[in-house]
Amino acid sequence: MKIICDIEVSNRLLPSQSMVGSRRAVKSTLGLGRLEGKSPDVFILHQTTQNKNGNKYKVCGNVEAVFTRFAAEGKATIRLRTPPHDLCIRSADPIQLNCFLRVLRNAISGQTDSKSGSSINNGKSDKLKGDNSAVNGKSNVKNRISVLSTSSKLLSSIKRTLKVTRPSEYPTNLRSLKTLEELQINGLSISRLDRQVTQLPLLRVLDLNDNCLTSLPKEISQLTHLRELRLAHNSLGEHISSTSSSRSSSSSLYSTDDRWDWIADKIVSSLLFLDLSHNKLKYVPETICRLKSLMTLKLDFNELTELPSGLGTLPNLRLLSVSSNSLHFLPGSLKKLHLEAIDISENPPLKTETVLPKFLWPETKSPASVLGIPTLVEIAARRVVQLGLHPTARDIPYNLVTYLSQVRFCICGRPCFESSLKILISMDPRSFAYSVIKSAGAQNPPTLAYLCSLSCLENTRTNPH
Ligand SMILES: [Zn+2]
Repeated sequence: MKIICDIEVSNRLLPSQSMVGSRRAVKSTLGLGRLEGKSPDVFILHQTTQNKNGNKYKVCGNVEAVFTRFAAEGKATIRLRTPPHDLCIRSADPIQLNCFLRVLRNAISGQTDSKSGSSINNGKSDKLKGDNSAVNGKSNVKNRISVLSTSSKLLSSIKRTLKVTRPSEYPTNLRSLKTLEELQINGLSISRLDRQVTQLPLLRVLDLNDNCLTSLPKEISQLTHLRELRLAHNSLGEHISSTSSSRSSSSSLYSTDDRWDWIADKIVSSLLFLDLSHNKLKYVPETICRLKSLMTLKLDFNELTELPSGLGTLPNLRLLSVSSNSLHFLPGSLKKLHLEAIDISENPPLKTETVLPKFLWPETKSPASVLGIPTLVEIAARRVVQLGLHPTARDIPYNLVTYLSQVRFCICGRPCFESSLKILISMDPRSFAYSVIKSAGAQNPPTLAYLCSLSCLENTRTNPH
């Protein structure tokens, strides 16, 4: 087997002779195998672009120590007796390195490992064959290894999943579990997520159900592979930001709120599943509509009176579950979706006398005067949203960031701001969802539509459903 990594070869004799060798790590290929037809011994083969033939190091009886403490970070050191070299491995893929060290350990202890049977070529047609059968019988080899880090036990099983349901099970050095793909931390009543979680580069599933989280660290947004985020039964709706209250008026539901800052960067295109049910949420910001890959969104058992108007801009959404909230209407942009199912059960019953469509502006005003002419700021802001840009206070003045956060989405899917009309219409959820779950006897909820132009109003009047 072989791995690609950076290797610094240090000669242990040089310092004792007051000499300093080259301290430079070089891009290398490190192989492990046997010279075909020449010797039954297993060798480590170290090749670089400068030395394509490579240096061979005998394994049996020649490996003095293997330092594997930082193997999970792609680093390890192999100490050889003859020549007195330390092979300092860096920047290796942790999974590949773990496999390599496991095969090396087997070779040292004289075990056969059929999985190591890959052959490598040192460029001079000297075939190295990974058939370890002849290494048997060297039972005393293991005793000669003076230092073998205890963490090498980890090598026997690469940890991909971890379930923590008791405080005693919580690992002290979580960040070292670099190979973790699924992490479950349930029922621990944690109110802040350990930032070490954000340093697990391969994490795909993060299940934090049943805790007391009031916010998530922004660094979650850097988890490139995170597909599933489970946050049910937490307290995300109870968070009172120390800064947001001073930044925004208390009545503005959509003011910038740092508790949703984690919806940014990498996670925006990776997340497929998000469960925010049972969180006492009073609102969900339009920011959530940045999660363009999202297929399942669960918001059940919260205190929502309104959903983000831009939910219909999530092109991949297939399941939307908003049962047991206080929703009086659904967002009009849902019309653009093709859901497999929507659950709107256990929301307030509707007053049957509601007459739809209902224009939500003073009767004395004409639609054209309510719309007015969009300001230059609004025209620019619409364009910024359409281009999918998300400037922060580092890029533009803070009042413009706040302005952008107040975006609404028209029934046509386009963004709008003050120059918009609000209208309640009747829309059968079956027009956008294959399966509709609602309370027995409940009528279709009205739809709150924002309209960006007179032509969108005209379309709604002529084609209300
Ligand atoms: Zn429109």
